[in-house]
Amino acid sequence: MKKNTKELELAILIIILVILLDTLYLLKVINIVYFAYFMASLMIVSLLGTIFTYIDERKRKEKKQIEDLMYYDKVTNLPNKTKFLEDLNFIKNQGKYCVVSLEVKNFKQFLDVFGITETNKFLKFMANSLKLNVENDELIAYINEDEFALALKYDSNDVLEKRLTKINNKIVESSKSIKVVLSFGIYVITDRRFSSSIMLNKANVARKKISDNYNVLCSFYDDNMKSENIELSDIENYMEESLKHKDFIVYYQPKYNVSKNKIIGLEALIRWIHPKRGILSPDSFIGVFEKNNFILKLDMYVLEEVCKTISKWKKNGIKIVPISVNLSRCDLEKNNLISDIQKIVKKYSIEPKYIEFEFTESIIYDNMNKFLNVINVLHQIGYVVSIDDFGAGHSSLNILKNLPVDTLKIDKEFLSEDSSKGKIIIANTITLAKDLNMKVLVEGVESKKQVSFLKKMNCDYAQGYYYNKPLSIKEIENVLKK
Ligand code: C2E
Ligand code: MG
Ligand code: MG
Repeated sequence: MKKNTKELELAILIIILVILLDTLYLLKVINIVYFAYFMASLMIVSLLGTIFTYIDERKRKEKKQIEDLMYYDKVTNLPNKTKFLEDLNFIKNQGKYCVVSLEVKNFKQFLDVFGITETNKFLKFMANSLKLNVENDELIAYINEDEFALALKYDSNDVLEKRLTKINNKIVESSKSIKVVLSFGIYVITDRRFSSSIMLNKANVARKKISDNYNVLCSFYDDNMKSENIELSDIENYMEESLKHKDFIVYYQPKYNVSKNKIIGLEALIRWIHPKRGILSPDSFIGVFEKNNFILKLDMYVLEEVCKTISKWKKNGIKIVPISVNLSRCDLEKNNLISDIQKIVKKYSIEPKYIEFEFTESIIYDNMNKFLNVINVLHQIGYVVSIDDFGAGHSSLNILKNLPVDTLKIDKEFLSEDSSKGKIIIANTITLAKDLNMKVLVEGVESKKQVSFLKKMNCDYAQGYYYNKPLSIKEIENVLKK
């Protein structure tokens, strides 16, 4: 703006000088030689001015292009992470703010179903919807594929949660073909001495806390989360060595027949006795292993441990019940999954009916055809297949009729005390699953009251702390011997 005013001033000055020269020549104050000389000089000055302005303008444009490349995302036109962190450094001192890490949970589904062009359109739509909901003194940025970040004015958790819920609802209502699933991790800035990248990191930690839970929208950071935020290097530097040293231990959690109160199976759940960090629960490392593909080795290791256990129990005359092994989305993607499974199971001469495979509900949507093919082959061999955490994702009862699985494991969220809606969903899912010849297991059963409810609903199986926590091999052997 300032620059344009300068150019205008220069142009006016030149026009005034031209008029002045004309007047002086007409009044015969100067002769034609001087007139021509001054006019030529003026033309050279204005020409040079134009050239300099052009060069200046080009430089300005180049600088802006470089800045755009450095600071803005091309698809969404939003500031990128670098710009966000720089701006956050400034505004964090201007008032009470919080940092929000926003994830589109089912982003991969968008990419798979719609491809890159439509997904980019969706990202633009997300960016525009977010822009409409932030004030001038707030920040918004696109971090990477499925992540956005915001710095918002903060009053209280309640007010913020309501605001984020409203933003979520608007986006969900406007998204047509696939229901968008968002989650928000929030760090309220309580200590301004933290760098902006640490603040964003804290918001990320809070968000990751709810990454497997599709029913919770917001998660606020608190200092207790710190200990679970294990350094990536502590996971990646020790995993191979731990696998060799058998620091990964399989625990077993019983599944019960609700009406008979009898154990009908076990689930194998991994624990890591980390050389530096002590016992770690799977939630703190499975995500990393899924990214670096180490989960492929770990899942086959768990299957082998399970086969060894069954083989040992056979020899020792301990009652054998089927044991389920959790498989990850990476397992489904690898081509030799079935042959790898077969090699292990045959090595210990285990009958397939003693092994069950659990696939979480969200895997189905990643690649439905692949999933159906794998289940078919597993079934042909004689394995049992179940869907884990049903309802935690897209809750599509509609999809059930296309799923040739044996058991549906309903996510533990639906049993929570304050969820009357959850109980209705459980009741309906049981009815529908029965019509489709599937068994239903409800996860996370913690009280007698919940067991009574499940009995009333004619639920087949249940699993949870009410019956047993996941137990070490010694403990489970004692339980099975009773
Ligand atoms: P999941 O397969 O849904 O396993 C059930 C989780 O719920 C287990 O957590 C179990 O300890 C917990 N749980 C059981 N009963 C109750 C209850 O009454 N109340 C509550 N609040 N929780 C209960 P865990 O062992 O921490 O495992 C978490 C998740 O990690 C598992 O969820 C599974 O998705 C994954 N996971 C565990 N082991 C493996 C593995 O060997 N391979 C793969 N790919 N994933 C695994
Ligand atoms: Mg499971
Ligand atoms: Mg589960």
